[in-house]
Amino acid sequence: MTTLQECQARDATDPLRPLRDLFSIPPGTIYLDGNSLGAMPKTAAARAAEVVTQEWGQDLIKSWNTAGWFTLPQRLGNRIAPLIGAGPDQAVVTDTTSINLYKVLSAAIAIAKQDAPARRVIMSERSNFPTDLYIAEGLCKAQGFTLKLVEPEEITAALDSALAILMLTHVNYRTGAMHDMASVTAAAHAAGALVVWDLAHSAGAVPVDLQGAGADFAVGCGYKYLNGGPGAPAFLWVSPQHAERFWQPLSGWWGHAAPFAFTPDYQPAPGVTRYLCGTQPMVSLSLLACGLDGFEAAESLGGMAALRAKSLALTDLFIALVEERCQGYGLGLATPREHAQRGSQVCLTREHGSGAFAIMQALIGRGVIGDFRAGDGGVHKDILRFGFTPLYIGFEDVWNAVEQLRLVLASAEWQRPEFNQKHAVT
Ligand SMILES: *Cc1c(COP(=O)(O)O)cnc(C)c1O
Repeated sequence: MTTLQECQARDATDPLRPLRDLFSIPPGTIYLDGNSLGAMPKTAAARAAEVVTQEWGQDLIKSWNTAGWFTLPQRLGNRIAPLIGAGPDQAVVTDTTSINLYKVLSAAIAIAKQDAPARRVIMSERSNFPTDLYIAEGLCKAQGFTLKLVEPEEITAALDSALAILMLTHVNYRTGAMHDMASVTAAAHAAGALVVWDLAHSAGAVPVDLQGAGADFAVGCGYKYLNGGPGAPAFLWVSPQHAERFWQPLSGWWGHAAPFAFTPDYQPAPGVTRYLCGTQPMVSLSLLACGLDGFEAAESLGGMAALRAKSLALTDLFIALVEERCQGYGLGLATPREHAQRGSQVCLTREHGSGAFAIMQALIGRGVIGDFRAGDGGVHKDILRFGFTPLYIGFEDVWNAVEQLRLVLASAEWQRPEFNQKHAVT
């Protein structure tokens, strides 16, 4: 049995503990939803005010040059690069994850059409995040491709001669299950397919090595583990071997080789810059920079390797405490116990329609913020989802979160009507 005192002692000796002070967490809140919207860096408010009042208010249009606005997508891409195993000038921060997926998947389709015209299938996981599947479905319709959806354990056997592109999310949003990026990429390449990775639940959460894995394309999210703020711009990465082969379809002026030449025809910029489309949101980009400061502060404390070790310790502790202290309440575990297969979140299951939504609402009422993802009444159960951001979550937080969960279950307070009303965003 782990005790509260042991958890407090682990916090006291945790070398990453000071990083928590970089974030603003409301008192009385244990924030286990950083996998959905990362917490606010304390510097964000002052930085937003500076961008608005000084860079915009005082310096006006000069700021495109003097404040470096114009090159911010590339500069932020270079700051994300170490977190994802990208080289210099291979990543840009821009647009949304959905839009970036549209761009890179379109480029992958163009490559497949040229190199392997008989291959007409894009494959993904049935439980991939829906927007990824919707974008792929739309592109398949437009391009005469077929979208094939499989369960994770079926992927290897389904790598066949019809497959053009394997499109996977590295860490599954519902279960926290993580693919072995290097081995899946190698298997897909051996079968003649390209691989597109979505790093929405990986960047800043687990070490990622896109170049080491030999991946082809990747996209990822700015407002989850990167703590960039609500609706923060996303990022994309293109392997240098593909970067200049095609235009991406949203061939706007920010991706032009000479945007201020104002020529009537499009000439793509060299490298990944051609994946930009139009004018980017400078206030939001500037706030993402505050989120990335946290990872640079972690660098001298062991960087992503240390963050990963702490994340696994936190998720191990949460699983152990739930199993010790919340037995007999119908909770299961959807997240793999195997470290190599686990992202930075833990998902607990309940039978579909058996109160998981209300349990989470009651828990949020007690200051422990996670979220709920509905099952389908079939193989996918309802899920209580808890994200563990090692930058600002501690071991005592984990103990207290499980204790509040135990109290919610033991008191059956989740059955109260106020915890059973649905809102637009769950
Ligand atoms: C969060 C998430 C997205 C979000 O896409 P937006 O375009 O930012 O709304 C996309 N894909 C995955 C896998 C995600 O987890």
